[in-house]
Amino acid sequence: MAGTFMGAQVTEASVSLDRSLRNTNQNVQLNNSEQKLSLNSDADRELLLPKATELAPILTSQAVSTSIPTTIDGLAFNGYGQLVIQASRAIAYRSSLNSANNTYVFTIPATKISSQLRRPILGANSPIEQIRLNQVGDAVVVSVKTIAGWQIRETIRTNPQEIALQLTSVAQVSTSGYPRSQTQSTYSNVTGRQLIAIDPGHGGPDVGATRNGVYEKDITLAMSKQLGRILQQMGYSVIFTRTEDIDLDLEPRVQIAENARASTFVSIHVNSLDANASQVSGVETYHAPGASLGKSLAEFVHEQILASTGANDRGVRSARFYVIRNTSMPAILVETGYITNPSEASRLVNSAYQERMAEAIAKGIDQFLKSYRR
Ligand SMILES: [Zn+2]
Repeated sequence: MAGTFMGAQVTEASVSLDRSLRNTNQNVQLNNSEQKLSLNSDADRELLLPKATELAPILTSQAVSTSIPTTIDGLAFNGYGQLVIQASRAIAYRSSLNSANNTYVFTIPATKISSQLRRPILGANSPIEQIRLNQVGDAVVVSVKTIAGWQIRETIRTNPQEIALQLTSVAQVSTSGYPRSQTQSTYSNVTGRQLIAIDPGHGGPDVGATRNGVYEKDITLAMSKQLGRILQQMGYSVIFTRTEDIDLDLEPRVQIAENARASTFVSIHVNSLDANASQVSGVETYHAPGASLGKSLAEFVHEQILASTGANDRGVRSARFYVIRNTSMPAILVETGYITNPSEASRLVNSAYQERMAEAIAKGIDQFLKSYRR
């Protein structure tokens, strides 16, 4: 990988990154990129300067070390699915959109491309088609081209050394509530290996349901990892919203699945009731209201869970849970049992039972996906 960065060491160089690795030509003519910039005026925006308090480090660092230029050190995805442009010091930038070719251009004055530029690996399902960096005079120009149906939104700057860009599907921007028609098209556009998004409920300080020192967050993570392994063995690709005991809001969980263009979303949870309802046990599988594909997925999965675990049938239900209501792909939330029922709790913490549950969920997903394959 390191050898491909040679072009970046030359001052007037450009570096491009193509998600399919088709285009590895790094020496794009500088004149072309400058001309392209001037054509990008349809959505030119104001120069985005850091707040006054953030300017202090710029002035200080320039006064102290004028000989060392600010460098653009890399681009990377953060835990919120945002593409982050990282610099060695505070930066200002100007952005524009060339809507004709889905290319967002970020011009960062008074910077150089680092000779050790870090670049993200773009998967085959990435909504980003190409990232290109050009040195144009004293400025670094970062061009990010998205595939059709995806947009980039600039986020509020919390770190003056970074520009964090949120990738969103167009449906998510333009539609409120559950985008049913988009679900259909997203689903039928899926080609190649199906990608399943697995969302282990809760995490970090949010322990979820708890009883006798047992936390929902630990059961959901263990089950989710088993589910991921089984799905991979079946030939599916898998993306997790979390693989560690970390705190994660609901919005980034949805974003991770959307950014990866997952074809199916499964959130794993454990249920609880008051102490006076400890007799209640069983499995509930949820889909978003009015989501026909989600309902179908829920029915396949629920049936498999009942058949292989023998758990009580508490039904396929519809509910407005955030993660299944805001995902554009068929999505379900499985309440795998009641931690407040002593015998079910002892099964839920048992790894053999967790595996049986995971196998059943995987089988249901597989049946759902195969039933819609043409
Ligand atoms: Zn939960």
